[in-house]
Amino acid sequence: MSPTALQSSGIVLQPEIPICQTDLPLDWYQAEFKPYAEEYLALPDRKPSSVLPWLDRYVKPAQAHFGDTLLLVAHFYMGGEIVKLVERYGGSVADSYQLALQAARHPEKKVIVESAVHFMAEAIAILAHDDQSVWITNPKAGCTMEMLAKDYMVLPVAEQLIERYGDELVVVAYMNTGGRLKSLAGRTGGAVCTSSNAHKVVRWALAQDKKVFFVPDQHLGRNTAKKLGLDLARVVALPDPQIGRGAFKIDDKVVPGGLGALDRAQMILWGAFCGVHTVFKPEHVRYWQEHGYRVLVHPESKLEVVQAADGEGSTNFLWDAVMKAPRGSKIAIGTEGHFVRNAREQGKLRGVEIVHLADIPDPAFQSIGCGCATMSRNDPPHLAGMLDLLRKGTPPDANRVLAGDMVDEATGLRDRLSESERASMIADARRSLERMIEITEAK
Ligand code: SF4
Repeated sequence: MSPTALQSSGIVLQPEIPICQTDLPLDWYQAEFKPYAEEYLALPDRKPSSVLPWLDRYVKPAQAHFGDTLLLVAHFYMGGEIVKLVERYGGSVADSYQLALQAARHPEKKVIVESAVHFMAEAIAILAHDDQSVWITNPKAGCTMEMLAKDYMVLPVAEQLIERYGDELVVVAYMNTGGRLKSLAGRTGGAVCTSSNAHKVVRWALAQDKKVFFVPDQHLGRNTAKKLGLDLARVVALPDPQIGRGAFKIDDKVVPGGLGALDRAQMILWGAFCGVHTVFKPEHVRYWQEHGYRVLVHPESKLEVVQAADGEGSTNFLWDAVMKAPRGSKIAIGTEGHFVRNAREQGKLRGVEIVHLADIPDPAFQSIGCGCATMSRNDPPHLAGMLDLLRKGTPPDANRVLAGDMVDEATGLRDRLSESERASMIADARRSLERMIEITEAK
């Protein structure tokens, strides 16, 4: 059973499940959303008996207004009960790859409202038809990994690499990038990849004797190199982009091992990472293994964690492992906390015990599994407000997602491309997405 089967697997909001969404402070809401947040905060509690009738007041009129042209979507890593709420209203919950295809595969849907982070919403917009509009419920919901790989950080470095290596260099852009980097991949003859097909895409690039500039996640890049049997001495990670906001000059001082190492490298890794997946340590893996658990991790984790684990793979892989595990199995999962919680609920129904890799009941470890905080910035007031404002015809422009938008997560404001820039950006980004599909589906 794939994660998309969460929808059809009978997970519905039960009256006894409390809505555990952490309320955001009021100053996190855009002015237009504050009235909805104030009403939500004034509810007596966060139980479905209070929250659902309140949400119904906004969601149902919007559904009646837009009819079948409205599509709600959310990602598996969403915090609180948003995943279940989106499903309750007939929406679709998927991983980032499947989300990206939502608009393209459903041309009858004209208004697409996404409760997840903006690189996912933007991927939907890149593949959308001209008459479809994409909206994000909270423009401040970013991905910390993508925030370490904004175009103004990466492009000046990419230009120096292109100048040095010419056609020999291709960019492979992980799905967790803005459209401008997906477009860079397209321009260099490269492709997008996901955590499940990164090894296929990188192998395809290396088979053409190309040097791969892998953006943005250094850990997925390194784990992919290891999986393909590359010599890690020929994999060079660029400096932490938090220092000086990227855009550094490529020289002997900046590049670990100097320019000689860069020239010998088969893969050059951008230095970004995911704060959620890099909390895992090999000690966590050993703890659970010693207690009889099989340990499975996501490849955004560090190499030493992946090597210590019993298996690694994408969200789909992890979900499948839970769904196919025999009754009585015990699995520790190293990935985003809300996903693990959903897996635990499903596992319980099937007699499979699931724990979060970093939730170790031993004070010596002082570790606790966490969810993706930025994704959790989409909560019931954001969903209610977005749908109500769309119905009234007054949605804030900051919530409209256009391909090529570069979002400042602190303010939620967008740097937009001109029409002609957007058209050429979309053409390149689509090419890199289509190449990924060709490579992945090739026999
Ligand atoms: S879990 Fe990590 S990579 Fe995924 S959206 Fe959150 S910050 Fe980004």
